Amino acid sequence: MAITRFAPSPTGYLHIGGLRTALYSYLWARKTGGKFRLRIEDTDTSRNNEEAMKAIIKAFDWVGLNYDDEVEYQSQRLDLYKKYIQQLLDEGKAYRCYMSREELDALREEQMANKQTPRYDETWRPEEGKTLPTIPEGVEPVIRIKAPQEGVLSFIDGVKSIMNFDCSEVDDFVIARSNGMPTYNFVVAIDDALMEMTDVIRGDDHLTNTPKQMLIYEALGFDIPKFYHVPMINNPQGKKLSKRDGALDVMEYKNQGYLPEALLNFLVRLGWSNGDQEIFSMDEMLELFDPTNINKSASSYNEEKLLWLNAHYIKNVSNERLAQELEFFDCHLEGHDKKEMLLDLSKERAQTIVELRDAINKILDVPTEYEAKGSKKFVKEETPKFLECYLSVLEENKESLHLACDYEIVTKPFIEKFELKFPQLFQPIRIALTGGTQAPSVYDIMAILGFNEVYKRISTALEKNFGK
Ligand code: GLU
Repeated sequence: MAITRFAPSPTGYLHIGGLRTALYSYLWARKTGGKFRLRIEDTDTSRNNEEAMKAIIKAFDWVGLNYDDEVEYQSQRLDLYKKYIQQLLDEGKAYRCYMSREELDALREEQMANKQTPRYDETWRPEEGKTLPTIPEGVEPVIRIKAPQEGVLSFIDGVKSIMNFDCSEVDDFVIARSNGMPTYNFVVAIDDALMEMTDVIRGDDHLTNTPKQMLIYEALGFDIPKFYHVPMINNPQGKKLSKRDGALDVMEYKNQGYLPEALLNFLVRLGWSNGDQEIFSMDEMLELFDPTNINKSASSYNEEKLLWLNAHYIKNVSNERLAQELEFFDCHLEGHDKKEMLLDLSKERAQTIVELRDAINKILDVPTEYEAKGSKKFVKEETPKFLECYLSVLEENKESLHLACDYEIVTKPFIEKFELKFPQLFQPIRIALTGGTQAPSVYDIMAILGFNEVYKRISTALEKNFGK
C-alpha cells in the first residue's frame, strides 16, 4: 500500500510537468489501495499567490484526480516545524550560526575564486575541544544541521537505481532562517514523514534535495520513504519545455478544448510506457502503471500526439458528455432536436472541443457571406437553373425528408436526370448552406437543418447570387 503526495509550491500555475508527477503519484496510491494526498508548500510567503493556490485545486478538480484527507498547508504548520528545530538543537544535532550575510558572501567568493564548490566552512559548528567565536551582538542566528563530514549518502531511486552523493556535496545547510522560518528541505522531510509517505514521486530537478532531506529524516529518527525521480519533459528540440512549447497552465488546456482524459493519457505516456500501447483509459492506467517502469531518460513533448489523443476521446465519449463540454464554449445544444445527428457528424473531424464547436456553428449559423473563391469556381451560369429545379424536387418530397438517406433518395434521380457531376450540385449547396466548400456530407447537413431551413438558405443564396 503506497501513500503518495503531490506537493506544489503555489508560486505559479499548475503546469503539465507538475500534473504528470501528480498523476503518477495518484495512480500508484490508487492502484495499491493506499492514499494520495495534497500538500501546498506555501512557506515562502513572498512568492505565494492565493490565486495560484486556487488554480491548482481547480485544475485537480478538472482532471478528476481526487485526493484523500484535508489539503495540508505548510504555512499552517510552522509551530510544528519549530518544535523539531528545538529538538535538534537540544540533541546537539543542529546549531546556531552567527555568520553575517557579508561574511558568507566573502566566503563564497573566495571559494569560487579557488574553483571550489561553495560550502559553509563550519565556523560555528560545535565540536569537542573547539572554541567557538564570540557571539556578535544584535545578530539573529540561523540554525544549521550537522551534516556528516565524510562518507557517502546513498539511496536506491525507483527510477534511476542507486544514487550516491559524496558528503562533501552536502554542507551544514540552514534549517531555519534568522527570522525563525524553517527552510524548504527541512519542512518537506518533516511533512513527508508525518504525512506517512511511503513513496515520493517527483521531478528529478529535486534529486539534489534528496540527500539533504535524508539527513533530516535520520536526525529526527523518521523512516525514509522510497524515492522516484521522474526525468523532465523536454520540447521536441530536446530543450527545457517553455510556455510556447506547451508548458502551460493546465487550465489553458481546457480553454483550448482538450478533454481531461486525453491530457492524462498523454501525460501517462510522457515518461512511462506499456509496450507500444498508446490509449489508456483510467482503469487501464490503474491496472498497468508501475513507477519502476518510468523511463530513465527525459521525454519529449509532442503536440500532434496530444491532438491525436484528443480526437480519439472526442470520437469515443458520449454525445451527452460532448454537449456538456460544449456549454463551456458557449455552444448550447440542449433541446436541439437534431443534437445527436449534429454531434455524430461533427465529432468525426474535430481534434478539440473548440473545433467541434466551430464545426457545429458552421452548420447551425446562417451564413452571412459566401466564400468568394468557392462561388467563383463552383457557381456557374447554369447553377441557378438546376438549383431552382432541385428546390422544387425537395418541396414535392418535403413530407418524407427527415434523415440523410431520405435526401439521398430524392437527390440521386435528380443528379441522373440532369447528368450532373457531384461537385456541380453539392458544392453550390454547401456554399448556400454553410457559406463555404469545406463541410461534411451535404445529406447530413440537410437532415440536421430540416427542409424549411435548407429551402430558405438555398433560396437566399440564389437571391444574392452567391455573393458574386
Ligand atoms: N514544492 C515542490 C515543487 O513545487 C515539490 C516538492 C517535492 O515534490 O518534494 O517543485
